[in-house]
Amino acid sequence: MKSTVCRVRFAPSPTGPLHIGGIRTALFNFLFARNRGGEFILRIEDTDQARFVPGAEQYIIESLKWCGIQYDEGPDIGGPYGPYRQSDRKAIYREFAERLIAGGHAYYAFDTPEEINAKRKAAEASGNTFQYDWSTRRQLNNSLSLSSGESKKRVESGMPYVVRFRMPENDEVSITDLIRGEVVFRTGLLDDKVLFKADGLPTYHLANVVDDYLMKITHVIRGEEWLPSLPLHILLYKAFGWEDVMPSFAHLPLILKPGGQGKLSKRDGDKLGFPVFPLQWVDPVSGEVSSGYRETGYLPEAVANMLAMLGWNPGTEQELFTMEELIRTFSLERVGRSGSRFDPEKAKWYNQQYLKRKTDEELAAMFMPVLASRGIERDPGWIAKLVRLIRERIVFPQDMWEKSFFFFQAPLQYDQQMVKKVWKNHTAEIIGALSVQLLEVTDFSSTVLEEKIKSFAERQHMGTGQIMAPLRLLLVGSGTGPHLFDLMELLGKDETVRRIQKGLHEIH
Ligand code: GLU
Repeated sequence: MKSTVCRVRFAPSPTGPLHIGGIRTALFNFLFARNRGGEFILRIEDTDQARFVPGAEQYIIESLKWCGIQYDEGPDIGGPYGPYRQSDRKAIYREFAERLIAGGHAYYAFDTPEEINAKRKAAEASGNTFQYDWSTRRQLNNSLSLSSGESKKRVESGMPYVVRFRMPENDEVSITDLIRGEVVFRTGLLDDKVLFKADGLPTYHLANVVDDYLMKITHVIRGEEWLPSLPLHILLYKAFGWEDVMPSFAHLPLILKPGGQGKLSKRDGDKLGFPVFPLQWVDPVSGEVSSGYRETGYLPEAVANMLAMLGWNPGTEQELFTMEELIRTFSLERVGRSGSRFDPEKAKWYNQQYLKRKTDEELAAMFMPVLASRGIERDPGWIAKLVRLIRERIVFPQDMWEKSFFFFQAPLQYDQQMVKKVWKNHTAEIIGALSVQLLEVTDFSSTVLEEKIKSFAERQHMGTGQIMAPLRLLLVGSGTGPHLFDLMELLGKDETVRRIQKGLHEIH
């Protein structure tokens, strides 16, 4: 196996669709790994059966692929440290839980959920909150309060139990987070977290630490919401005797709501009118549909670039980065500590910038399926020319239809306000005469048309605008659309004259 400088992982739980904050965590891990020539791993943390959502793992994989975030090892592609789905690693964890018990760092707890609930209620009744910790564990049902014989008997008889971490009463855990600097935790306030559950599966904490160790993870880069779990994780490394191979930690700042108040949540998106999910998600139970960046018309490059700038800054004014450039410039040193506000307008701006970078032919290729869905088939070269006329005004590929539908259908009606404004007594007669002359034009190109129409206007002692405005109305049905002569060239002589004749019949 080749030796590498770093191994990082993205470890989502398939409890629903991944929101863009999760994608950003994956992206930062990916950029960090690629920047250092290391490896990036996808690990599915699905030991919480109660929260398992069908389809979520596939959604995660598809989202990463769509965004161009490639992992080197993962549940669908395997790798030397597999399996990469924790439910497929079930057999691994019990032994580690037992190792902790043997070392005095964890204990069996037999309390039933009802008993714990009763404790909680009693504490609340006297204005306190119940916590399973150093101050309460001796009064509870566990292998620290019971005799060792009794505990053994209970375990062997198959009585349900969980394994809890024995959080030290009075310890201080300090560590240098790569983003936040030195962080210090006092253990006295922390609870005795469950590490192994009655269903025979580990909790997140145990599985996460054991797997990071077994998978030789060197850096844990994850969201700030995991910071409170850090002291437990560090103590687990110590308890296992793995301190010397403990990964470095980097906790990424939160992504905040557009208004800046609080964390961007899964529910914000459709409420505030922008997607918070990379791909559309249909809830398997309720059937509720949440919109996705992909379906809204965002380009994956734009989404990746936009997400990279949420929390990381290059230290220059540059805002547009290809994935290659991001890989080259990314570093954790340039990730800030404070939350970054999500700006939906900026997301659109990024999309627009990336659409601008596409060639006419590429945009035409994006437009063709839209046209095909409307039963329209045209020569790709012609569509590329059309795209050139409208490309400056689109934010999403589907805007191309809105900006160009009149190329594909003659006006069905005419904007009455425009008619009132530009249709004068002699307009029909003059435009009629012009259309006869247009029939004679052999080179129906924008420049030739411009010349012809200008000199026609002069001969009529009129301004060119007085000809162009009614002409546009006849061709488009309104006052909008691209440059008139370009429009005529693209419509071609037959269609241009046909539309003029039709309009002259219909506008009075
Ligand atoms: N399974 C955790 C999650 O859903 C992983 C957190 C971590 O990266 O340690 O985000």
